Amino acid sequence: MFFEIHSRILDIGDTMKGRRYTASEVTKLIRRQFPATDFLFRTHRDPAVDPDMIVVAGIYDCFNDSQDLPSVEITLCYHPAQKYFFTDLIDWETLAFDLAECICHELVHRQQHRSRQKFKTYESKLPEGDPLISEQEYLGDGAELDAYGFSIAAESIVRGCIPQECVMYGVYQTTFDNDKSVIVKLEQEIQKYLNLLELNNEQNEPKQ
Ligand SMILES: [Zn+2]
Repeated sequence: MFFEIHSRILDIGDTMKGRRYTASEVTKLIRRQFPATDFLFRTHRDPAVDPDMIVVAGIYDCFNDSQDLPSVEITLCYHPAQKYFFTDLIDWETLAFDLAECICHELVHRQQHRSRQKFKTYESKLPEGDPLISEQEYLGDGAELDAYGFSIAAESIVRGCIPQECVMYGVYQTTFDNDKSVIVKLEQEIQKYLNLLELNNEQNEPKQ
């Protein structure tokens, strides 16, 4: 799934060369690559986003899932004033990775919910009032450790680097400076997904 989404988005960049689209047309172009029954795509304008950038955010809704409604919502955030996006100026490599990573991260959450996996919540050991507490409780949650294990494994394969050089690994390291047991758990999750992704990647390679 991950590699399939990744290459489908890269293909859009190739086939749409030299064209320009509005933000909602770019969203539509991307939405058309996916079954409407699974995913919702939204266009959002955000002043924090630079021109020609497209920032991807996702959320999984377990209530919608239990009602058989589309349960993964992907928001594409664009610069507020930019009218047209020239496909040649969009960084399709980054967008393809961000979309595939984001969608599959949410699909890990969907899988967790559907298989009724139980995860341990994390209680921060930091002193009261420390601004890192809520960050630790979010990232240290067992379900997030599992899903970010996937995200980091995917980044390390696409970038061809070791997990320790990946963005979210760095975030975990800074956030859990006082509790290395979380990093040990994260590394186990990363390894699990590295094995799975490498297996999928081999199966996807064209036969000689
Ligand atoms: Zn998550």
